[in-house]
Amino acid sequence: MIFGFGRRADDADLDEEEEVEHVQFLGPLSGAEVNLGQNARLAEAGLLPAKELVTDALLRRADRIRIEPKGNVAAVSLFVDGKPYPGGRLSKQQGLAVTQMLKLLAGLNIKERTKRQSGGLKAELEEVPYELGVESSPLGEGAERLSVTIRNLKQKLDTPEALGFSDDMRAKIRTSAALKRGLILVCGPPYSGVTTTTYAVVRTVDAYIYNIYSIAGTGTRELSHITETEIKEGDDLPTTIQRIRRMEADALFLDPLRDAETVKTLFAEREKMCYISEFPAKDAAHGILQLMKWTGDPKLVVDGLSLIISQKLIRTLCKDCREAYRPNPKIVQKVGLPPETKVLYRPPQPDPEDQEYQPCTTCGETGYIGRAGLYELIELTDEMKQFLLSGSPTPQSIKQQARKLGMQSLQQEGLRLVAEGRTSLEELQRAFKPAS
Ligand SMILES: [Zn+2]
Repeated sequence: MIFGFGRRADDADLDEEEEVEHVQFLGPLSGAEVNLGQNARLAEAGLLPAKELVTDALLRRADRIRIEPKGNVAAVSLFVDGKPYPGGRLSKQQGLAVTQMLKLLAGLNIKERTKRQSGGLKAELEEVPYELGVESSPLGEGAERLSVTIRNLKQKLDTPEALGFSDDMRAKIRTSAALKRGLILVCGPPYSGVTTTTYAVVRTVDAYIYNIYSIAGTGTRELSHITETEIKEGDDLPTTIQRIRRMEADALFLDPLRDAETVKTLFAEREKMCYISEFPAKDAAHGILQLMKWTGDPKLVVDGLSLIISQKLIRTLCKDCREAYRPNPKIVQKVGLPPETKVLYRPPQPDPEDQEYQPCTTCGETGYIGRAGLYELIELTDEMKQFLLSGSPTPQSIKQQARKLGMQSLQQEGLRLVAEGRTSLEELQRAFKPAS
């Protein structure tokens, strides 16, 4: 009797679960096979909670999930438009099971917990395809932090137009690429959309006029009219560049530059073609100094670097609930908005006493929906080269010089979006606050 009752309860549970549509995991991006049968115990403990967690994140428009062990629990954060929100707590065991499960699904080695690993998988929910990037970072004693970045493949936010590249910015990218030499680099902190911007930079270069090759691992991102090739086994980067040059390449797109050796090689080969890649640095000014440090030769960097772009993503106001207000003229002057600014926008600030207040369903009461890119460009013009080689430049002095030379800066771009009512002053302040 007890057994029978138990089984009925199980059946009822199953029926209930079927009502909620869960995300489907469609295999690692690497194309590797995932054997759930061989990992049956892990699948039993981790598959359903992993599905529930990812489904919840996708339905809340999250762009990243972070699972981190904290004492006896695993803290989950969901990042919506880059801002973290609590995503609930799992027990330590559940957190571990979900972490291991997602690693397995992304084709990572679940036995390895002492090295950083990254991979990804394809997923689908409600007929929307997604790409999930999975990265595990060791925290010691077998503990790991898991980060899942989410890309909605239906929202093709990867063209220069969709990302908001200005005409001037596009013209500068094209002029730099037309030199058929030197480096065009995009930099920014992790998870700031640098990769998406780098792809848009590659797309800005006219593939009908120039021969563009790629040796970057592109996952599911498509680059039309660009020839994909790879570093052949046994070949090093200079040999590969030589081979691609024989195919009359004008430009080469590479994976993110993470080590001094690769950077040195590209600068040494700077006359062969134009190289486009991304580079982990806080911003363009810090990036230039990092390149000088890695190569140990400021002259080489100044000669080989054509253009360095950095970016920041900023949340844009929800048009359904944004609220207009008249800003204090003193604040307008202090932040550097045009003096004629009469109206700015911000998220709604409902009176707590107001019984009639209807929260906005479009943005889920966050006041913001989606993000826009702010871009900063440092072009290695003759004046800029001269400046970089005289004295010892600092990030601040490079930025100052760039402004003096009329180059587009992140702050100016941010203020332009505030003046246009696309974002708020509060959001601008939040985005530029040093990370805590
Ligand atoms: Zn809204």
